[in-house]
Amino acid sequence: MSTTALKPHQKELFGQPIGLYILFLTEMWERFSYYGMRALLVLYMTTSTLGDDERGAGLGWTSKEALALYGWYTMLVYVMSIPGGMIADKLIGQKKAVLWGAIILCLGHGVLVMTDIWAFYTGLGLVILGVGLLKPNISTMVGGLYKEGDIRRDKGFSIFYIGINLGSLLATMIVGLVVAKWGWHAGFGLAGIVMLLGLINYLIGQKYLTQVGNFVPPKKDDPNEISYGQLYSKLFKSPLQLTFTVILLLISVYGWYTLEWGYGLLFVFLTAVISLLMMIYKELETQVYKDRFMVLLLSFIMVIVFWGAFEQAGGLMNLYTESKVDRVLFGWEIPTVMFQSLNAGFIILFATLIASIWAKRKLKGKEGSSIFKMAVGIIIMGFGFLFMVFAAMEFEKSGTSSMIWLVLAYLFHTIGELCLSPVALSFITKLTPVKYASLMMGVYFAATGLGSKVAGIVGESASDFGEYAIFLGILIFTVVIGTIFILILKPLKRLTHGAEDNERVMHTDEAEGFELADN
Ligand code: GLN
Repeated sequence: MSTTALKPHQKELFGQPIGLYILFLTEMWERFSYYGMRALLVLYMTTSTLGDDERGAGLGWTSKEALALYGWYTMLVYVMSIPGGMIADKLIGQKKAVLWGAIILCLGHGVLVMTDIWAFYTGLGLVILGVGLLKPNISTMVGGLYKEGDIRRDKGFSIFYIGINLGSLLATMIVGLVVAKWGWHAGFGLAGIVMLLGLINYLIGQKYLTQVGNFVPPKKDDPNEISYGQLYSKLFKSPLQLTFTVILLLISVYGWYTLEWGYGLLFVFLTAVISLLMMIYKELETQVYKDRFMVLLLSFIMVIVFWGAFEQAGGLMNLYTESKVDRVLFGWEIPTVMFQSLNAGFIILFATLIASIWAKRKLKGKEGSSIFKMAVGIIIMGFGFLFMVFAAMEFEKSGTSSMIWLVLAYLFHTIGELCLSPVALSFITKLTPVKYASLMMGVYFAATGLGSKVAGIVGESASDFGEYAIFLGILIFTVVIGTIFILILKPLKRLTHGAEDNERVMHTDEAEGFELADN
């Protein structure tokens, strides 16, 4: 392909549009700031107000209080992707949403540099809003770089996924060192500076992104153009959907009084989202769109189950590592937190390999649909827990367990993640009509956030049932769910109406004008 007459956004590097690398770097810096700050959060909250060492004063909370806030925070950052996606779809487009998200994140991390408690809450609030605007929309923009049927899309998402994990790996290695030397707030500040780099990188790279993420204003007299407000008002004329919504609302009220108000509020919000999704389904113009939408929603079941198991990494598996694993290697005791870097490290090593294996398989005409990959991903990740079962058995016998089990568990978890997570991102951009693309990406991230919350609840129950039972339970449950999806693969694939058949390599210049640009 000649590159002489190509505009910047049509140019390619290593067979991928250059825009991909701009989004890669922006997301890498954003994830650095997110994971860097996340790594500090619980430790900062539980450090005494007088300060236990040179890192300085913390908030002096109990670990129960800190973990509760941590659980809500890590869920909310992803749940906020739903309004973030809606704002992009209906008001400003993904490109501007990412820009505003990045600016708000810089402010949020900047505020966290201050030591006052109001600054702590304000900073967290801003980070939640910023991630909600940036995270789903940058992922949708990656999908926008490829035309329908372009086989490079899946690989593009795998490359993007390496950026995510490079950011997280660097953060977990560097932020801890900075905090040890200059204190907590220097760590928060570093996250802010890094986010500023992400913002600058995004601004400089705009010329490679002219064709994606632009706001398409709704056409005035188009009967198919429906606002979210109209969808909600139509709900009152749809008896089936209305009844279901009322039932969910009653459950929410029950949850409000029996659990705590936070859960009540969350359930009300989820009810609003579910009723919107039901109305979108009802209003979709063709049966093809309806069927694809249904498959996507079903695949979100796998997403919740996957993250519900996977996220034990930061919770139960982390605590297990701390208290029951022999971490001494050549006379040196490896700090527990370092095991958290295994996941990101394995992703960087294996991401392109796994993507190429799938692509080769597909070109040979073997089964390679996204649903299949996601189901295989759940099963592989589930088998990771087999090693944790072995670890628990060894501990029962000898009072300690070898770290090799952990390394193998994280390896399987990572391979499972690579089969599911980048694939799911790509799948959403294949199956959703453009006008709902950001919303559905938001729903996806919200599902991952709910999965994390489930993980916390399951992890907590280990104190009642013991780790052996929990690890074995997760293994069985995930393998069963994955197998069910493989068994119903054929009908599900039929419902995608060939969205993934006949994929081939398409170059960016062929794709000229595939997304409407307003600038
Ligand atoms: N680790 C991935 C990221 O940070 C996936 C997180 C998720 O989907 N919840 O993007």
